[in-house]
Order: sequence, then structure tokens, then C-alpha cells
Amino acid sequence: MADVARVAVVGAGLGGLAAAARLAALGHDVTVLERSDRIGGKLGLLSVDGHSFDTGPSLVTLPSVYRDLFAATGGPLEESLDLVRLDPAVAYRFADGTQLAFPGEPAAVPAALDAALGAGAGAQWSALMARAERMWQVSEGPFLRAPLAGAATLARLARRPADVATVAPWQSLRGLGRRYLGDPRLRTLLDRYATYSGSDPRKAPAVLATVAHAEQAHGSWYVRGGLHRLARAVADRAVEHGAVLRTGCPVRRIVLAGGRAAGVELADGEVLAADVVVSDADAAALYADLVPPAPTAAPRRALARTTPSLSGFVLLLGLRGRTPGLAHHTVLFPADYDAEFDAVFGTGRHAGAPQPVADPTVYVSAPDDPALRPDEDSESWFVLVNAPRHEPGRGVDWNAPGLAASYADRVLDVMAGRGLDVRDRVRTRVVRTPADLERDTGSVGGSIYGTSSNGARAAFLRPANASPVPGLFLVGGSAHPGGGLPLVTLSAEIVAGLVGPA
Ligand SMILES: Cc1cc2nc3c(=O)[nH]c(=O)nc-3n(C[C@H](O)[C@H](O)[C@H](O)COP(=O)(O)OP(=O)(O)OC[C@H]3O[C@@H](n4cnc5c(N)ncnc54)[C@H](O)[C@@H]3O)c2cc1C
Repeated sequence: MADVARVAVVGAGLGGLAAAARLAALGHDVTVLERSDRIGGKLGLLSVDGHSFDTGPSLVTLPSVYRDLFAATGGPLEESLDLVRLDPAVAYRFADGTQLAFPGEPAAVPAALDAALGAGAGAQWSALMARAERMWQVSEGPFLRAPLAGAATLARLARRPADVATVAPWQSLRGLGRRYLGDPRLRTLLDRYATYSGSDPRKAPAVLATVAHAEQAHGSWYVRGGLHRLARAVADRAVEHGAVLRTGCPVRRIVLAGGRAAGVELADGEVLAADVVVSDADAAALYADLVPPAPTAAPRRALARTTPSLSGFVLLLGLRGRTPGLAHHTVLFPADYDAEFDAVFGTGRHAGAPQPVADPTVYVSAPDDPALRPDEDSESWFVLVNAPRHEPGRGVDWNAPGLAASYADRVLDVMAGRGLDVRDRVRTRVVRTPADLERDTGSVGGSIYGTSSNGARAAFLRPANASPVPGLFLVGGSAHPGGGLPLVTLSAEIVAGLVGPA
């Protein structure tokens, strides 16, 4: 595109903000329209009783992706944000009582695994990580950093038979784990990476082992002051380049003229003319509600063949006192991980009837950060368990009276049973269910990552960044290449490339 385009961005999640920053830096005339009264979307912040909490992401991976974004839009990331590398990356506790502090530095991983799980565990994991690194090399450029282009993308990926064998598209993540990992605790570790895209390891493709590789090789990071600062810093970049951010502006529909995107209509009837519309709204909501059905039949059909990603049940806990020896991230595994995926997706023993997980994996993020606590003798914890989506009538109705509070009690009991008993230290407790996530961010059913990676074809059914409507582009976690902060940031890079400079 040679001329300055008027760009309307729908939604100020990280995807929308990163697209706005890049497109404004390319010289376009950008307006961001956010329906809620704050920016960040899932990358949100909540402050209660002097405690502050990131309400969504708590882990930053692939920092080079954000460094690229900041370099492309002005000064280096470090001028805006203080990224801290975590070590250990995660403290794991398994159902048999084994504790494993997973090192933040890759060189230390094999010895830590041998020490915690027994001799040979480190070598098994290293062999798997070597394979995952090869998968990463094969898939990163042609898949993660390029627009999804149907058969052309497949052809790009399948150019060399050796690459296809490396990625093994027919194999599940669980299957890959069985091949490389003899220790069931290591297999549980690997399975967990399926949940980074909201998926079931029994159905997600083996190539998701790249998530484990990327995290291990490039580190687990925290943004001092809270991850929400990433959203603020990207928003600042957009504004520095002239973008206008408008909150409290729900977009009611995308306006089409002559078959092209021609602007957006807000809920109050105001119409903003635009040459390009970039939607950061959940793709399922975009295609269901914001654009007419006829020109978008193909992506709607594709979406109907996907499994939505799982959601999350969140407890934000303001605690009195400090927990000695607590890592930044702790994961408490249950005895039966498969029961969790059956409950969340309504499969196996819960066929057709998803339900809150009775004995869930519990993830605790407890940043040691003075910016997030009222005084030195308190802590602000983010606690997350995987949860089925909000689907009243068909699945779980998270608004059912009493459910949220009783399930929150249940999660606290599970934590206590696994050695983290904070029940008598709770000063503040905020419960956020999948229904809250849907209400606050517009993600359908509260799915965290758009569509899941369940199934070998899932990645190719995810909505492409270029919609069938000329001038309408999709950014964010429900579009290609997928959910999670780094992929969302890459989606903005892809969209900026598709739109081009002014
Ligand atoms: C509990 C939780 C934990 C997570 N943990 C991690 C983690 O540790 N690491 C990680 O990398 N990722 C994590 N994620 C995922 C990550 O938060 C998301 O992938 C990412 O923030 C999504 O960004 P987005 O721009 O795609 O969408 P969103 O953040 O959902 O933003 C979409 C925005 O669009 C707005 N919008 C929607 N419809 C309209 C409309 N019609 N008009 C105007 N505005 C509209 C919404 O209000 C929202 O602000 C987590 C998410 C959650 C919920």
C-alpha cells in the first residue's frame, strides 16, 4: 500500500496495540477503538486493598519478539521495561511428593532433573529438547512468522521430507513424550506445554514441544512492576507515532463498501471511515457478529471444525505475611492429569459434560515485587487452574449461584493438601471465572487462546490474518499464529507486513 491509510484497530489487547504501534510507525493514520474503559485486554491489571495483580499473563517468553517490536517502533525495549529472567523458571511439585526446581538457565537443566527425578532423567529431557529445537528451526520461519496461506503454507512446511519427519505432524505431544521420556513425571512436564495453547496433550500435535524448547532456551521472564506494563509501553509507542486510543468505544460492526472494509460503526452509531480495519476482537465473535456472513463463510466453516481452547479459573489472593522459599512460579500437579483434560474438554469419563476439575493442577505466580504489595509483610498471588469454558445450557454455567465461591474454596483446599496452605492468611480474594473473562475481554466462552491446537489440522483451521474481505485483517491470539503474548505480538508483525508502509 503506497498511500497513508486510515486504519481502525478494533480492540486494545496486546495484539491490537502492537499492530497499532507498528502501523503508526509505518506512517499510517491509526485509531484504536476499545470497548472497555481500559487497555490491555487479557493483559490486565487489578488493584484491591493495596495489592496489585496481573489478571492474565504472568510469564513472558521469547523476549526477542518484544525487542523486535520495540526496535521497529523506536528505542530499545529496555528503555521502557525492566525484564527480569527467572531462576528457577518454575518450582514443580508432583503428586508423589517429588519437588523439582526447574532451572532458568538451560545448562543447569540436566543435572537438576537427574538430582530430582533420578539419574538419566536429564539425558532423556535433553534428547527431547534437541528434537524440539529441530522442530523449532523447521517451523518458526515458514509458520510462526509468515501469514497463513492454506496449501501454500503446507507446501512451504513440506518442502523437505526430512523436515516433515522432524515435525511428525501425525504424532501427538503425548505420543512424542512416550517416545523420549521414560519417567512419568517428565511426561507430565511435557504435557503441560499443551496448555500454553489451551489444548489437550493427547490431541495436540508433537510440534508443541517447541514451546518447551523456546521457554528453556530463551528463558522465563517477568516484567518488573507487572506484565500489564508491557501493554502500557506498547500503547505509549503507538501514541508516540500519532495513533489515537479511544476507550469505552465498542465496535458494533465492520462497515463494508464495494466488498471492501470501509470503516467501523460504534455502538452509539458513530461511523469511522477507514481504508484498513484490523480486528483484535476474538475471531469467533468477529465472524459471528461484526461482519456479514456471505463473504466470510469459509473462515466461519473452518472455525466450526475447531475445538475452542480451554479457559481458566483465577484467584487473586492478597495475603498477610510472606512464604519462605517460595519461587516466582509454582505448579502443583494432581495424581491424574488426564482426568483434568477430560473434565475441561468434556471427553473420556466426562464425555459431553465438561465440568470444573475436581483435583486440578494449580499454578501459582507470586512475584516478589514491592510494586504489587501494600507492605513488605504481604504477598499478591495469582492462582490459575484450567477450566472448561462458560457455556450455559451446554456445558458449565460459571454464573450459577454459589459455584464460583465454592470452587474457589475447593482450589484453596487442594493447594493446602499439596503443601501450600494460605487459607488463614487471605486478606483479599478476587475470583475471576471464565464468564468474567468473556464479559471483560469479549473472548467467546472465556477461551483464553481462541481455538485450541487439538487435532493435526488445528493450526491450519485457525483464522488467517488476512480475512476474505479485502482491507480487513485479524490480529491477536484467536488468529494465526495463535495465542500467548509472543505469538500475539508476531501476529501484529505479520499484519503490519501485509498492510505495508505508507
Ligand atoms: C488467565 C490468563 C493467563 C494467561 N497467561 C499467559 C501467560 O502466562 N503468558 C502468555 O504469553 N500468555 C498468557 N495468556 C494469554 C494472553 O493473555 C493472550 O494470548 C493475549 O493477551 C491476547 O491478546 P489479544 O490482543 O489477542 O486479545 P485480548 O487481550 O483478548 O484483547 C482483545 C481486546 O479487544 C476488545 N474488544 C473485543 N471486541 C471488541 C469490540 N467489538 N469493539 C471494541 N473492542 C473490542 C476487548 O475488550 C479486548 O480489550 C493468558 C491469558 C489469560 C486470560
